Amino acid sequence: MQALIITIGDELLIGQTIDTNSAWMGQELNKLGIWVIERIAISDDKNHIIDTLEKNKNRADVILITGGLGPTKDDLTKHVLCEYFGGELIINDEILQHVTEIFSRRNLPMLEVNRQQAMMPNNCKALFNKLGTASGMQWQIPFADKVGQQFIISMPGVPFEMKYIMQTHVLPMLQGLSNTQVHHRTLVTAGIGESFLANKIKDWEEALPPQIKLAYLPAIGMVKLRLTTRGNLNETLEVALDKEFEALKILVKDYLFADNDEPLELTIGNLLLQNKATLSVAESCTGGFIASKIVSIAGSSKYFDGGVVSYSYRAKENLLGVNNQTLQTFGAVSEECVTEMCKGVLQKFNSTYGIAVSGIAGTDGGTDDKPVGTVWIAVGTANKIVAKKYLFSKDRFRNIELTYVYALKMLMEEIKK
Ligand code: ATP
Ligand code: MG
Repeated sequence: MQALIITIGDELLIGQTIDTNSAWMGQELNKLGIWVIERIAISDDKNHIIDTLEKNKNRADVILITGGLGPTKDDLTKHVLCEYFGGELIINDEILQHVTEIFSRRNLPMLEVNRQQAMMPNNCKALFNKLGTASGMQWQIPFADKVGQQFIISMPGVPFEMKYIMQTHVLPMLQGLSNTQVHHRTLVTAGIGESFLANKIKDWEEALPPQIKLAYLPAIGMVKLRLTTRGNLNETLEVALDKEFEALKILVKDYLFADNDEPLELTIGNLLLQNKATLSVAESCTGGFIASKIVSIAGSSKYFDGGVVSYSYRAKENLLGVNNQTLQTFGAVSEECVTEMCKGVLQKFNSTYGIAVSGIAGTDGGTDDKPVGTVWIAVGTANKIVAKKYLFSKDRFRNIELTYVYALKMLMEEIKK
């Protein structure tokens, strides 16, 4: 099965909004074994929308469209699609009731343009949107030159509304139609570059059976390795996939962060939970980034005590008890300082593990012996603290993210000890 994605909105073309919708849809379709042949971004323009539909009407089994379903004049998609498929807009009572309820819940008057949100083309299937006023629409038309039907599905541009409609209506429908399946095994490595990793696993990679493909997916401070096989997962194929995955895990064991595709903060959270341990963080150069990542996981209150953002010397002294002498002698970006920060945060929060980071994120502030990108990270418990120095990059945001990845990697090593 093949799919094509069309995202509509002037804001996408001028880069004001980044098209995250098609990235997410691509991932979800891939899981169902549906191949995305093309992603197209176009403007809120009637002719442009019609042209794009005309050019693509026989090219894929499903065309997924997002954007332009709002109540304002610049949102044209519903009207254009309705006209294109020769339908007529009529009130849908269920949607009208839903839209009315939304406005009364918010204590807002309902305008005529809002009522129009309940107008649906009479020749499509309405895909009810519990989370917003713009419903999705689904047309099913025969292919002109091949057997079967083409689905054309239009959804709102707001990412969480699009995801809701995809998850409740579209993906279950497509799952029923797709006859191939894609199976993945993914692991996350941290602390080794892509080319070194490739070199390490070269022999194993060359010997992979042809039905199993390997992909390198580099991100900041990490490389994900994904094994994929397509087709009905019979026992032989599954055994082969798992065998290769286990072999790969052993080859990269020194850099292995997780043997699944979860975010790092979730893996760490689960590890802390399993060990009935708690964490606190003392952050200088990351300014709360680590704490914010940790609390992005629901249920993190079970293992995260809290953190201190100690940016200045004064904050390091007053909030974490770092010695003024230490700061004067070694500076804030030093083994001595992060070790004292870590000790301080462990005492303050009485947690099992502490993390402390201090570095020169950039873009200025570097010196010859401590250039931009120099970061000290300390991790430990009340009994023992280890500190390491890193030299990351020249880019401020990269340095903040790299500090976060390496701090979590050090913490993982400590917990596993
Ligand atoms: P609404 O009913 O909210 O008006 P809509 O279908 O008209 O929905 P748009 O007006 O096109 O949607 O976009 C609504 C919001 O969703 C905007 O903030 C827009 O930037 C964002 N958005 C639109 N398309 C995308 C996309 N492809 N990826 C990420 N965000 C998007
Ligand atoms: Mg729009």
